[in-house]
Amino acid sequence: MRSSCEGAHISGAERLLDFSQLEDAASSMLKRALNHSRGVPSHITLTLEQVGQEQLRKERLLPLSTFVADNWRHGRLLAVDMLEGLGLERRIVKNAISRLAAGPAPNHEVMRGAMLVDAMSGERLEPDRMRGVRVSRMDIDPAALPSICLLLDSLNLNRQRVLEAWVLASKVTLYPQVIAELCWSDDPDYQPGYVASAQNGYQRITHLKELGSSIGGRIFFVRQAAGLTSLIDSLQYEPLLFREPPLGRD
Ligand code: AMP
Repeated sequence: MRSSCEGAHISGAERLLDFSQLEDAASSMLKRALNHSRGVPSHITLTLEQVGQEQLRKERLLPLSTFVADNWRHGRLLAVDMLEGLGLERRIVKNAISRLAAGPAPNHEVMRGAMLVDAMSGERLEPDRMRGVRVSRMDIDPAALPSICLLLDSLNLNRQRVLEAWVLASKVTLYPQVIAELCWSDDPDYQPGYVASAQNGYQRITHLKELGSSIGGRIFFVRQAAGLTSLIDSLQYEPLLFREPPLGRD
């Protein structure tokens, strides 16, 4: 689903479901589009595409941990430190964060998709800077949903947005070209965000942006431009279902 108002992105969501779940999911997507804190949409698009079972890949969610930040400035410093700890250059990380915070689209609004940033040069790599790269075709494996909900319950995190972001980050960081993802929401009421990487998992940060700001987005730090087309293709189209994270970490 995607919704917009006079061309400006309001909200979006992706699911990967069995035929039997489509009616309910379409109805809840519509409800969601119509009740978003970013505003009332003038356009709502629901796109349904068939995916063959044989294409389906099953993987595990990233291990999840939470870091408490007193405020968004502290949270951003924490995020920069985490990204630097993954081998990224501090200058490139800070520059990319400034671009996200200023509104990543050319008109300084939010994008529908993510920024792609070359980890070596800091250069923006997404082919369409108005749109960004939108990750799609991922969900929780229905057989694993009850135990994943129990796990989130035990962490007091059993909310749809946490689950969806966790799934998205688990897909993005599966591809070896991606070193890390940084995200904070464009929902003005929602301050948490995260740094995700195959190396350190899904690291939630309790405050990553100012309350009331509707500028948010995602940055994927990628190794190099080589293989970029196939990476973007996989992010957009490879169907993935996720099971519980591996045991042994938070
Ligand atoms: P949200 O976490 O839904 O508040 O989204 C925050 C920002 O992340 C949006 O403004 C988009 O720029 C970006 N985003 C949301 N969903 C996706 C997605 N499926 N793929 C890539 N970027 C996304």
